Amino acid sequence: MKELNRSRISSLLIANRGEIASRIIRTCRKMGIKSVAVFSDADRNSVFVQQADEAIYIGENPPAQSYLDAEKIIAAAKRVQADAIHPGYGFLSENAEFAKACAKAGLVFIGPNPTAIASMGSKAEAKLLMEKHDVPVVPGYQGDDQSLDRLLVAAKEIGYPVLLKATAGGGGRGMRIVETAHEMEASILAAKREAKTAFGNDSLILEKYIATGRHIEFQIFGDQHGHVVHLLERECSLQRRYQKIVEESPSPVMTTALRQQMGDAAIKAAKALAYDNAGTVEFIYDDQSNAFYFLEVNTRLQVEHPVTEAITGLDLVKMQIESAMGMPLSLRQEAIKGNGYAIEVRLYAEDANNNFLPVTGKVERFEWPQVEGLRLETSIEKGSEISIFYDPMIAKLIVWDQHRTAALQKMQYVLKHLLCLGLTTNQNFLLQLLQDERMIKGAYDTRFIENDFLPTISTPSISTNAELASVALTLYIWARREGKRKLLAAIPSGWRNNFYAYQQNTFLIEDEEYVIKYRFQQNGFHVQLPEKEMQVQLISADETEIRLEIDGLQSSFKIAKGDATYFVHNESIGTQVLKHRSRFPIQEKEKVKGGFVAPMPSQVVRVLVEAGQAVKAGDPLLVLTSMKMENTIYTETTGKVEAVFVQRGQNVEADFLLLKLMPEPSGKNS
Ligand code: ADP
Ligand code: ADP
Ligand code: MG
Repeated sequence: MKELNRSRISSLLIANRGEIASRIIRTCRKMGIKSVAVFSDADRNSVFVQQADEAIYIGENPPAQSYLDAEKIIAAAKRVQADAIHPGYGFLSENAEFAKACAKAGLVFIGPNPTAIASMGSKAEAKLLMEKHDVPVVPGYQGDDQSLDRLLVAAKEIGYPVLLKATAGGGGRGMRIVETAHEMEASILAAKREAKTAFGNDSLILEKYIATGRHIEFQIFGDQHGHVVHLLERECSLQRRYQKIVEESPSPVMTTALRQQMGDAAIKAAKALAYDNAGTVEFIYDDQSNAFYFLEVNTRLQVEHPVTEAITGLDLVKMQIESAMGMPLSLRQEAIKGNGYAIEVRLYAEDANNNFLPVTGKVERFEWPQVEGLRLETSIEKGSEISIFYDPMIAKLIVWDQHRTAALQKMQYVLKHLLCLGLTTNQNFLLQLLQDERMIKGAYDTRFIENDFLPTISTPSISTNAELASVALTLYIWARREGKRKLLAAIPSGWRNNFYAYQQNTFLIEDEEYVIKYRFQQNGFHVQLPEKEMQVQLISADETEIRLEIDGLQSSFKIAKGDATYFVHNESIGTQVLKHRSRFPIQEKEKVKGGFVAPMPSQVVRVLVEAGQAVKAGDPLLVLTSMKMENTIYTETTGKVEAVFVQRGQNVEADFLLLKLMPEPSGKNS
């Protein structure tokens, strides 16, 4: 092999944070490359910062002042004399200007050439280019004429439902499904407004909405010598808010013939871009017609890349680094065969019962079972904070096995035994999803969670689980109060004599009240719930765990205390979040008339109105940001702004009163 013209990489700066930074550091170590992390204030004590060989502070928490600040990152790389920069995913990873600036500064950018990045940055350009190269694209409109009339005509030609997308969009933001013609005009205007605030560009593309579509993507890989391959598919149809939460490979609907066709299309896409690193070609596959269409190319390493690694045995980060150094790819397409089956789930700090809104908080406990074939990617440990500034992803769990059924069973086991307490997560939701029969059969599409799954998950066992958690917590609190005694046997009889009457605890779980009455008897506790009673023995208790025998069945409950809540977990009840009623009485949330409150903990990024200003229905008032979600608060009524209670840059808790509006007296409404 000729070593000429090849860049040497002996130290690499990671322009990212969290689990992906940790992931890249691991490969650096494996290759004998020095790793350098960058960090903001919030990340000063993060796991990835400790794992790196060196770490540099680059600025304040808002991404624009640190992880998205190209100049600061390049200056940091120069300062530590790094040879290369790996951008991870998100942040600057798909920013062609950044890739160019790296090269200009003499740094190897670990990613594809800037031209490939730039041409995939616009959804309109991407589709036009792919069409030209014979890759099937979703029927739609991606023209320059953005006038309302032209877009309305385009929608009519496409036929409903139509999907509106921001040309400059990404991360599922700014997309809207429009079901009927009469909603179209208002939807276009709203989508344009959203696109403008989110991406600084109000251009839209229109697509036929494939209602029964499945998201199937192909991992592509290229070198700088014109050789490209695909590394099979991943199916990522299980999404909420157009964002993936479960990814698997092989896809349950894949056939050899379809893989051949879609793989060929992916290779065509890669060739059209002279693709020279890791990338992903996303398709939407229509179950009904068997047709598939190009969606976009993500010109970076993908969150779900471990699924591909699990079935191919490859290290994609290592391949990325080698390819960026100019090394030729030695893999041939015919030799790439998947081995077994892999699935990934994303564990998020979010509340599946509250529209999947992200939550903030501290991780009080984080433990997972040792299971063969489990790979856990995270940069979170006990004590880590999930802040408003970054993505609420806590960890990725990847399981490999020879067959899908075996891997699903293993993943269910992992999700039952994983302990992540201190804040609300989607762990229970993921487990329920993986236990769903339709999921097990692989019979789902991109709207499955929203349309088919969510409406069916309220099962009676949920209230039983909540009751069990309430009983466990009642006895835990009792045991804590009674002091350090570990066994009932040690409790002096005098105490028993005083314990005739029923005591009572009330907890709130998802706004549902659970009243637990309990009384000590001869050999344990008699516990009364509104509709049942049980005999409970306290086997042991310490600060983190209580072991109970309930009607003859013994099990342990892990317990942690958050700010105003308790977290109770065991494998059969999942994680339950409880509020103690006596200490936290339900406050009837006082609704301020004409008041607008923050839907979740956020930072105010823009205040678009001021006190005294007249506004009309549909006007944007404020823009909030939280964990990469931007939230524009619109008014639905016409009126006058009475007061604005926040300013730009301010951090606010959920339900914080942001602004008050005086509606125009009805009758005067236009
Ligand atoms: P994928 O298609 O690989 O799932 P997404 O498009 O959903 O990727 O986003 C990639 C990732 O980039 C997100 O999961 C998130 O972790 C990260 N990310 C993107 N933008 C930001 C941002 N502004 N702040 C923090 N993290 C971000
Ligand atoms: P982003 O850049 O935000 O990732 P994509 O174009 O990849 O945007 O779309 C995100 C998701 O939206 C897809 O994974 C898919 O679930 C859904 N989607 C996109 N386009 C269509 C379409 N034409 N029909 C049906 N679903 C679509
Ligand atoms: Mg996408």
